[in-house]
Amino acid sequence: MPLRLLLNGAKGRMGRAVAAAAPELGFALAGAIDAGDDPAALLPAADVVVDFSSPQATRHLLELAVAAKKPLVLGTTGHDAAAKRELAALAARVPCVWAGNFSVGVNLLFALTRRAAGVLGPDYDVEVVEMHHRFKKDAPSGTAERLLEIVREERRLPAGAVRHGRSGLTGERPPGEIGMHALRGGDVVGDHTVMFAALGERLELIHRASDRAIFARGALRAAAWVVAQPAGVYDMQDVLGLR
Ligand code: NAD
Repeated sequence: MPLRLLLNGAKGRMGRAVAAAAPELGFALAGAIDAGDDPAALLPAADVVVDFSSPQATRHLLELAVAAKKPLVLGTTGHDAAAKRELAALAARVPCVWAGNFSVGVNLLFALTRRAAGVLGPDYDVEVVEMHHRFKKDAPSGTAERLLEIVREERRLPAGAVRHGRSGLTGERPPGEIGMHALRGGDVVGDHTVMFAALGERLELIHRASDRAIFARGALRAAAWVVAQPAGVYDMQDVLGLR
């Protein structure tokens, strides 16, 4: 019996990738909706909701999913820190996987970044660089935000440690700064580099996505996993057993 999926943001790049990957991974579409459609009518027929839409849509979708007690997979990025906290409290009332990046490779990059930040220590300057297609609406990417958070956690640095771009007479690079650079152009699906630079050596961890099918397959893997979980907010580290 295939799992019945309600897809939000179905007309978008990710929505189309999820719809294309769904049948081969054992899912049937209970509904495919986009801006202007009402998820409420289709929710009862769904086993799980998958959302790749816009950050403005998340609250309404979550409220409906919580009321209908439906598990969900949230892939939309671009929420600020306050919105994330508020939405996570709501999402915790149903089983929910919320990840800024559903690729297996990127989730390993998260684990490797944590290890490198710890082993290399504060003398290694960290710079994060991401590049995405020209249509992306938020910056830095949700994945880059997570990489920054991991470095800050490992090094016990405040949010203010992140320096977004540089220009003009910046002076020498202060210790404890994390540089963040968001590049945009063309059809780049998503590149992330975490650089650790000291005097005499530099380590770079690089992930390049070339096909959004990797996010779609990861999101569907999360959907198959989340239907069997108790209420709570999970991420791909939980789904992949990387924690
Ligand atoms: P897109 O612009 O191609 O598609 C977004 C779709 O959502 C559009 O069809 C739009 O009409 C629709 N939409 C807008 N408001 C809506 C609403 N209120 N209700 C329902 N649908 C609505 O964007 P995309 O490249 O498909 O990305 C969508 C989101 O997913 C972005 O936030 C992006 O950053 C994120 N994303 C996440 C991952 C991940 O692995 N977590 C990967 C890629 C993209």
